[in-house]
Amino acid sequence: MLLPIPTLNNHPQPTKIRPHLMASSPTSPSDQGSRSQRMAGLLDLSRQLGDPAKSFCILGEGNTSIEVDEKCMAVKASGSVLASLTEADVTVCQRAPLLAALEDRSLSDGDMKALLETVKVDPEARRPSIETLFHAWLLSLPGVHLVGHTHPLAVNQVLCSPRARDFAERRLFPDEIVLCGTASVFVPYTDPGLPLAREVRDRVKSFILQHDTTPRLILLQNHGIIALGSTVSSVMACTLMADKAAAIFAGAAAMGGPNFLTASHAERIATRPDEHVRQRRLNA
Ligand SMILES: [Zn+2]
Repeated sequence: MLLPIPTLNNHPQPTKIRPHLMASSPTSPSDQGSRSQRMAGLLDLSRQLGDPAKSFCILGEGNTSIEVDEKCMAVKASGSVLASLTEADVTVCQRAPLLAALEDRSLSDGDMKALLETVKVDPEARRPSIETLFHAWLLSLPGVHLVGHTHPLAVNQVLCSPRARDFAERRLFPDEIVLCGTASVFVPYTDPGLPLAREVRDRVKSFILQHDTTPRLILLQNHGIIALGSTVSSVMACTLMADKAAAIFAGAAAMGGPNFLTASHAERIATRPDEHVRQRRLNA
């Protein structure tokens, strides 16, 4: 059963330390450097996530986005390849109509296609990714300036297994907590596009109510992951650590485990001052 969903504007700011995103996150897009620097950051993140050696994405899999300013975002164009992404493969979109579409229950698949054309700042730009809606909503969360969605091989082994929810809700080792948080958002399999964007929104809102913090990692059952961050490094670190944790989970499961950290051990790692220092360094 999902908890009641708050409006983000009315949601109280968490009172405890929120190390995962906030420690190193600038507070506004203007702190993120020039538009060209942000575009360069998006291309850097995309090429790192698409690196074939990492097995996070092949061919046209995955998508990335960055906050350009208060009104606009840049997102990977549909069908483009992360590993070789160029500025021509990135589409700048208006954010407000995308957020409004999430609330419009009457929107059809046809309306959705039309919307992805009309939100383009440059009408000649390529059509943005079908997942642009969840990117737009996630970029509206406090401290989230970049979003990386991938299909990592090791993580999908777990997300396509009956143990997927265990992997989301429990933790195996301290560095997993430092870089992926004390828990991940778990999203049951949902049709891509508008239905998935609405499910991601609802599950993240419930997570924020339950955990009093913005999540670092969202796990999409039988699909892939979404890493949230304020910098290229923080999204990369979260993705790399999720991939390592999944490989450890699968290995531990093969040997009769996993043997999870207790809730008190996990909470201790999440609140240790020396771990906060490490988080800031790794997320910078
Ligand atoms: Zn995907």
